[in-house]
Amino acid sequence: MSAYPIENNAMSTVKTQKIVKESPTVKSFFFKDRLCAKGKPGQFMMVWLPGFDEIPMSISSTLPSGLTSITVANVGEATRLMHQKRKGDTIGIRGPFGNSFQTVKGEVLLVGGGTGIAPLFFVATRLLEQKADMTFLLGAKTKEELLFLSQIEEALSRTGNTIAASTEDGSYGHKGVVTELAENALKRGKFDMVYACGKELMLLKVFMLAEKHRTPSQASLERLIRCAIGLCGSCTIGKYRVCIDGPVFTNEQLREVRDEFGRCRRDSDGRKIPV
Ligand SMILES: Cc1cc2nc3c(=O)[nH]c(=O)nc-3n(C[C@H](O)[C@H](O)[C@H](O)COP(=O)(O)OP(=O)(O)OC[C@H]3O[C@@H](n4cnc5c(N)ncnc54)[C@H](O)[C@@H]3O)c2cc1C
Repeated sequence: MSAYPIENNAMSTVKTQKIVKESPTVKSFFFKDRLCAKGKPGQFMMVWLPGFDEIPMSISSTLPSGLTSITVANVGEATRLMHQKRKGDTIGIRGPFGNSFQTVKGEVLLVGGGTGIAPLFFVATRLLEQKADMTFLLGAKTKEELLFLSQIEEALSRTGNTIAASTEDGSYGHKGVVTELAENALKRGKFDMVYACGKELMLLKVFMLAEKHRTPSQASLERLIRCAIGLCGSCTIGKYRVCIDGPVFTNEQLREVRDEFGRCRRDSDGRKIPV
């Protein structure tokens, strides 16, 4: 468990400086904040939309210009409001919070689904700087929902690394789900680390495949996060609190919470519900 400097938990307001439509349902928002600019891949921040809600969002990039981005899927009330924001509009932020993906040297496999591709692309840039040999697998329902496809293709082909994609409708790459690509990759090659981010049932499948092939793995989990500082207990999984012990968990930690991982989470009343 890590303690945060208290300033990470102070609310500040920032103006959106750039907004990029990444897909029909996903937009990236860029803003300037001194603390978030030091955010690491896997860390998240809380975004406050006054009068509506405060929601967790992974940091999807930190740029040399000092800009930080989040990449937001429009799934409900708060994210719909976020999608209505225009350049120059104000949002409240706290953070960054949580741990981060730990980079390793050697052969790495990245498996990302949906908006989970965003934080994985962030860790991929760090791994490429460390000259890791990388296979990046990304999956989505359709080609237009494969986030950052051209940027990832460009970054990986430049460094001689491998990228493969799957779509459920077959509009690009393998027709099916990204875990099928992961299964083939783990059968064929030997990896020093598997990194995964996406829906929890996908993460469970990737975890089980990595365990089968005796490969260490790290996965970023989502739970209901409210306080983000370990007080409220909304985000517990077994003995861990996702907001301060995660959101990134190792395969050893995930083994300890196997009865909840991929099975249940807590709703806003604290009841356990299926993931
Ligand atoms: C650490 C962390 C990082 C995240 N990073 C991103 C990101 O980078 N990009 C992104 O688009 N989203 C991310 N999310 C998810 C995001 O916080 C939720 O989609 C958002 O809170 C939904 O708010 P809403 O009011 O729009 O939707 P709601 O109206 O609250 O919910 C819409 C639907 O989404 C479901 N839902 C909402 N939150 C969650 C959750 N945490 N887990 C499972 N189901 C949920 C609800 O049950 C409902 O079916 C992250 C979540 C966590 C915990």
